[in-house]
Formats: sequence, C-alpha cells, structure tokens
Amino acid sequence: MFGLIGHLTSLEHAQSVANELGYPEYADQGLDFWCSAPPQIVDDIQVTSITGQTIYGKYVESCFLPEMLASRRIKAATRKVINAMAHAQKHGIHITALGGFSSIIFENFNLHQFPQVRNVTLEFNRFTTGNTHTAYVICRQVEECSKRLGIDIRKATVAVCGATGDIGSAVCRWLAHRLQVGELLLVARNVERLTTLQQDLGKGRIMDLELALPTADVVVWVASMPKGLEIDPTILKQPCLLIDGGYPKNLANQIQHPNVYVLNGGIVEHSLDIDWRIMNIVNMDVPARQLFACFAESMLLEFENWYTNFSWGRNQITLEKMDKIGEVSIKHGFRPLLV
Ligand code: NDP
Repeated sequence: MFGLIGHLTSLEHAQSVANELGYPEYADQGLDFWCSAPPQIVDDIQVTSITGQTIYGKYVESCFLPEMLASRRIKAATRKVINAMAHAQKHGIHITALGGFSSIIFENFNLHQFPQVRNVTLEFNRFTTGNTHTAYVICRQVEECSKRLGIDIRKATVAVCGATGDIGSAVCRWLAHRLQVGELLLVARNVERLTTLQQDLGKGRIMDLELALPTADVVVWVASMPKGLEIDPTILKQPCLLIDGGYPKNLANQIQHPNVYVLNGGIVEHSLDIDWRIMNIVNMDVPARQLFACFAESMLLEFENWYTNFSWGRNQITLEKMDKIGEVSIKHGFRPLLV
C-alpha cells in the first residue's frame, strides 16, 4: 500500500474545504485550532497502471498550514509532519510521499533526529520526498513546452528561482548537462549555497530575481515560499514561459498577458482515471487524472515494489535517478502536464 501526506495551501483554503474533508467542526476555527488538530486519513485511493496492475493507497491530511511557518509556530509545524508520518506507518503503509512543505519541514528542522513518536519508531525507509520525480517532470515540462512555444532551449536563458533547493538543484543539473540551455540563471537568497551550486555545475550565473526576470525566456519557480509573489508580466520577455512548481504557488497573481505562458509545474496527468476525491479539494483542473509528481512517485515505488526512500536528504538527486523514475513514470502511464 502507498500513502500520500498532504496539506492545504492556507487557513482560508482549509476553512473552505473542512466540510468536504469530513471535519465540519473545523470550518469556523482559526489557526490555533488547526495547530492542535491530529492527522487524519481522509481518502482511500485505487490506481490502475496502463500495464493493468492495480494498487491501493491512503491520503493522510497532516493539518499543517503554511501560516504556521509565517507565524513562527514551528513546534506545531514539526509536530504535524512527524505525527502524520507515524499515522501512516501505524496504518501499515509501505511507502509514503511527503508532499508540499512536509519534506521541507522534515529537512529544515532535522526531524530525522526524532524518530520516536509516542509508541511508534519511525522507519524512514518507508518515506520518500517525491522530489526526484518532481524534478524529472519539471525538466520534461521545460523541454516540451519551450519547443511548443518556439523557444530554442539551446539558445534560451533559463532562470531557476529556488536553484539551491532539493528540486531546484536537480533541475539545474538537468538543464545544464542534459538540455545544455544557452544560459542558466541561479536565483535564491543564500549566496554561499549559490556559489557552491555554481561550482558543482561548472555553469550558471548567480543573479537577483529582479534582474533575472526580464532576462529569462523560461523561469522555473521552485522556491519554498509560504506565500506567492506578485509578478508584473510587462517586465517579462515575450514569449516567456513561467513554470510554477511551488506548493503553495510561487506566483500569487493570475497572469494574463499575451505571450506569457504560465504552467502548473511538477504536475503529471495519468492515462486512466484515479478513484479518489482529494485532487478536487486541491483544485486540479482534471482531478481524476492530474496530481502532484511527488505523490505519483510513491505510486511508482509501489507499482515497482521499490520499498525504499528513493528520494531522501537534500541535494542527492542524480541524473541517473531521474532517468530511472522517468522510465517507470512512462511505463505506468503518467505524463507531464503541458501548455
Ligand atoms: P527546498 O527547501 O529544498 O528549497 C527551496 C529553495 O527556495 C532554496 O533554494 C531556497 O534558497 C529558495 N528560496 C526560499 N525562499 C525564497 C525566496 N523568498 N526567494 C528566493 N528563493 C527562495 O525546497 P524543495 O526543493 O523541496 O521544494 C521547492 C518547492 O516545490 C516548494 O514550494 C514545494 O512545496 C514544492 N514541491 C512541489 C512538488 C510537486 O509534486 N509539484 C513536490 C514537492 C515539493 P534560499 O533559502 O537561499 O533562498
């Protein structure tokens, strides 16, 4: 059995879907109430591969909300993640993806140091961040969508916002060495980490976001921002492809501008309908078929009986692992969402 640990994008979102999730008593409650809410299994899932194989899974709502980080309720945030992991393990789930901020919190607050959650000793090999598949899908989206928009990727300038992150650094590696993009712009806040990445890649220019935006033909957004940024589309090149892989979205405004194309990044579409209701709640355009690539990674590991934390730690994603997960993604009928 596979599992998915997820969370909603804001308190407002949580209040608006509380009834659908089966928590009517949470609908009028504020952040403090969500801080004390325990994790819950809110969906049973059945997925069939194009090979004919069927697998079963469960969705664990951690009750984490990004406002917990913004308001420095760090203890509540970390508790949400490890309690949800313990809940998944207690229910006998073999491999569970840590969606959205769950893996970021796990890493940033060194939660591997706290494997004991009441009477459960967390077995970390039962969990995956799903970031290898997410990075692979975003790279395929860059390649295919730029082709469709007439952007020659070998001559294009591509900015990665969140370049030093787990997903961002893997995307940079692929863009530099596989796609051999014309120019790679590395954007994040910590200059030391940017310099190390630049040295590892042997390529890339470190640049502030304000300078990178008007220079780039393609912008990949994979920054771990609890709230999105407002972007003025008139400063962008035309055409410009913006691939927003953040959850919550890195881009706060709906950009409607001729020749500026915004794509939901790190999203895959399955070839067959999936029996679940959770993707309605997170507002996917085609909820029966579209899902986050990190969730799809736990399905792929279950299909292949790879009961291992395929994606784990930070900045460990290799091109070979991206190839390997990409191969089974195609085999089981997933494809990247395209413009
Ligand atoms: P990491 O924490 O590993 O990396 C985050 C990156 O963003 C770092 O480079 C960080 O560098 C940078 N960053 C953070 N805040 C800012 C800011 N305000 N401005 C510029 N850069 C910033 O995160 P992950 O790689 O694990 O995840 C990235 C995003 O992808 C998250 O939004 C996550 O929820 C989403 N995600 C999507 C998935 C999907 O299936 N579609 C799956 C998993 C994650 P610095 O701190 O130096 O600025």
